[in-house]
Amino acid sequence: MDFLRPATWREALEAKAAHPDATPIAGGTDVMVEINFDRRRPDVLLDLTRVPELTTWSETDGVLRIGAGVPYARLIDELGDRLPGLAIASRTVGSPQIRNRGTLGGNLGSASPAGDAHPPLLASDARIEVESVRGTRTVPVAEFFTGVKRNALAEDELIAAVHVAPASGPQQFSKVGTRNAMVIAVCTFAIALHPEQQRVGTGLGSAAPTPRRARDAEEFLSAELDWAGRRPLAESVAQRFGELVAQASSPIDDVRGTADYRRHALAVMARRTLSWVWEEHRSGRQECA
Ligand SMILES: Cc1cc2nc3c(=O)[nH]c(=O)nc-3n(C[C@H](O)[C@H](O)[C@H](O)COP(=O)(O)OP(=O)(O)OC[C@H]3O[C@@H](n4cnc5c(N)ncnc54)[C@H](O)[C@@H]3O)c2cc1C
Repeated sequence: MDFLRPATWREALEAKAAHPDATPIAGGTDVMVEINFDRRRPDVLLDLTRVPELTTWSETDGVLRIGAGVPYARLIDELGDRLPGLAIASRTVGSPQIRNRGTLGGNLGSASPAGDAHPPLLASDARIEVESVRGTRTVPVAEFFTGVKRNALAEDELIAAVHVAPASGPQQFSKVGTRNAMVIAVCTFAIALHPEQQRVGTGLGSAAPTPRRARDAEEFLSAELDWAGRRPLAESVAQRFGELVAQASSPIDDVRGTADYRRHALAVMARRTLSWVWEEHRSGRQECA
């Protein structure tokens, strides 16, 4: 097995162009599991851990650019106030060791339907910056996932960064698993309120072949919420929102749960997280940019 160690982003892109079959490795928390269990035996590994450009984040003109190599621990510590939904999701990932090592870019690279970073990115309309020696493009996160563990990367492309606006309103994330830590989600749900646009964003995980938004539920709720008057949430609205979220899923029966259970859990998580974010909006606690 060849092991390539670029020291700069340019070198990484050139290495990927020269070896399109090379498997990028960042934290290795997915790649090494596959290699150790003999599920994958790449001829070439492309180690991205020495590329400094991947490990920084910045904010320009109201948009955050988060390098693909930023690990969960830093998303929590450094960006928790700007991206509370992603930080809540990051806290549920693995264990402290996995959160120190595992990266945002690695989660996107694996494109698992159960990836915990995906629902909050969907709810916040994130865009994925991908690059090759041919140039750079950004892909809306909702179009990034193309199938089970498949993504929109061409064979010579790498994930450079995630672009996302800081929260303009309350955000939440909820995960059902068989225990509290070190667990692959049975299903997950993320919600983000965008009060200035009077709009709701959602993201579903482990509920379909790819992470996805519940667009009908978003439209329904955006129209029903009393954004300016901040009246209490009607029970019938929460109920209908939960139903529409469940309808947006297309889950399967597997070892972690049945499709019926997943639909039920999604409706519960949707109602519950909605009540949390709406109460936060009403109390005016989170009006940060
Ligand atoms: C014990 C354990 C617990 C876990 N718990 C969770 C959990 O609770 N929730 C969860 O979502 N995940 C979990 N995971 C999975 C894993 O930690 C995450 O998916 C993590 O984000 C992967 O990041 P990484 O940097 O380790 O990726 P790597 O393993 O290095 O790479 C993952 C994939 O992304 C590709 N890749 C990496 N960087 C790039 C790049 N810049 N451009 C293009 N492709 C790239 C790799 O080629 C590979 O296909 C767990 C894993 C373990 C071992």
